[in-house]
Amino acid sequence: MTTTAFDDRDGVIWLDGALVPWRDARLHVLSHGLHYGGGIFEGIRVYGGRAFKAAEHFERFHASARELNFRVPFGPGELEAAMRETIRHGDIADGYVRPVAWRGSEQISVSGAGTSVHVAIAAWEWPHVFSDDARTRGIRLRTSRWRRPSPDTAPVRAKAASLYNICTLARDEAEEAGYDDALLLDFRGHLAEATGANLFLVIDGALHTPTADTFLDGITRQTVMALARDLGIAVHVRHVEPGELDRADEVFLTGTAYEVQPVSAVDGRSYEVGKVTAALAGAYTALTRSVTVP
Ligand code: PMP
Repeated sequence: MTTTAFDDRDGVIWLDGALVPWRDARLHVLSHGLHYGGGIFEGIRVYGGRAFKAAEHFERFHASARELNFRVPFGPGELEAAMRETIRHGDIADGYVRPVAWRGSEQISVSGAGTSVHVAIAAWEWPHVFSDDARTRGIRLRTSRWRRPSPDTAPVRAKAASLYNICTLARDEAEEAGYDDALLLDFRGHLAEATGANLFLVIDGALHTPTADTFLDGITRQTVMALARDLGIAVHVRHVEPGELDRADEVFLTGTAYEVQPVSAVDGRSYEVGKVTAALAGAYTALTRSVTVP
C-alpha cells in the first residue's frame, strides 16, 4: 500500500452522480455529518477486477442510512453501476471500494431535518490489510476497556461512522501496547468483535460466534458460516463469555478487509492456526476468486 495521503492521489472519485478528479472530491467544514456523526459507509473488496457481494453491501448501505434516519438519494442498483464505473476508471484489479454518505451543510443545529445527503464512492488498489506473515501466523489481540454499546444507546446495526470512535480508541490503545488489534466485549460483558471484523472461536471442532445483537452482522461472517455448514462444520451462534477463550483451540476473525484472519494470541493466551481456520480461509479464498461479473 502506498503511503500517499488519501486526499492527494491521481484518479477519479464518484461524487453525487458524477466522476470528479480525486483531489476535488471535497466537503464543506460546516457539514452536519462531520459535526454530529451523520455518516455511514461500506467497505467492498475487489478481486480480479470484480466486486465481491456488491449487492449485499449496497443493501446494507441503505439499511445503515435508514437506521440514522436519512435516505441515500441513489438506489442500490445505481450505486453498483457507479462503483463499477469507478473500478473501471481506476483499473482496479485487487482492491477496496469505499462508498460513504453524509448529511450536508443546510443547517448546523443538532436536528438533521432538511439536510441533503451526499454520496461518494472511491476505489483503490489494496491487496491486504495485514502483512503476509501476520496473515499466515495470525494476529495478536488485546481485550479493550472499551465496550460495544447497547442497542438502545447507539444504532448498533448500522455501519455508522460515529460508532467507529470506539473502534479507533480501542485499536490505538491495542497498537500502543504492541498488539495488532483490539477485542471488544459488549455492554453486558459478552465477547463481541474486533475493531473491524467479527469473531469466531473453534471449540472441539465446531464454530462458536457471538450473537450479533450489539455489532455488525458481517457479510463475511454470514458467508463463512455458510461455508462451514457446507464443509460439515457445526456452527453455534450464541452469547460467548470471555472465559471461553481459555478452552478455544483456534480463534479467527472475519471481515471484508480481514477476510478469514487467524488469531495467534488474545492477551496472554496463544493459539495455533488450526485445521478449521485453514479450511475456512482456503474455502473463502476459492469463493472470492471465483465470482462471476455481477
Ligand atoms: N465489525 C466491524 C466493526 C466492521 O467494521 C466490519 C467490517 N465491515 C465487520 C464487523 C465485518 O463486516 P463485513 O464482513 O460485512 O465486512
